[in-house]
Amino acid sequence: MYNYDQDNDPIPHCLECGEILYGRPDKKFCSSGCRNAWHSHLRTGKRLARSLTLNGLAKNYKILEDLLKLKQSSCPLDSLTQLGFDPCLVTHQAEKMGRHIVYRCFDLAYSQSSVKIFNLHRL
Ligand SMILES: [Zn+2]
Repeated sequence: MYNYDQDNDPIPHCLECGEILYGRPDKKFCSSGCRNAWHSHLRTGKRLARSLTLNGLAKNYKILEDLLKLKQSSCPLDSLTQLGFDPCLVTHQAEKMGRHIVYRCFDLAYSQSSVKIFNLHRL
């Protein structure tokens, strides 16, 4: 995909291949082939982002579930991230009555401080 700042360039270029465009000023592609390729890249990018997030959540879930199998309800964040846990990926987050936010990864809930997760349990 061709990358450049079209807003700061008075000469229109094809969004896909960068060819200079002639004709209508609102034209974005030099050909239907380039238009199709561009939309296909866009779809692929969105699919990829979605699947990376879902894979990350699945990995987090597996790690948390393994902790529960070991009867662990807390774990240092360092150890978790070494296993591939991504603390940014949660399916739900809610303020608790107390001081801590409760995070959820599907049916597993836990709280998190700057150094560890704790009170891990299945809902
Ligand atoms: Zn083109």
